[in-house]
Amino acid sequence: MKLKVNEEMCIGCGACRGICPECFEFNEEGVAMVTVDEIPEDKIEDATDAMEGCPVGAIVEVKDEEKED
Ligand code: SF4
Repeated sequence: MKLKVNEEMCIGCGACRGICPECFEFNEEGVAMVTVDEIPEDKIEDATDAMEGCPVGAIVEVKDEEKED
């Protein structure tokens, strides 16, 4: 499972980092970013909770066939 944060949508609320600090961190601009290329097996549940809990829906799953910009 791969996730990414849509930086233009993120409001920096910190919910994702609170739920799954192993997978999310803030960059210098106060925008959340995913810190791991692949979500570890034992963090998939937390990361999914973070994705579903994002108030603006800024966390999206990256499918293998999609290219990351
Ligand atoms: S939960 Fe969503 S809006 Fe809040 S910091 Fe994480 S990505 Fe940004």
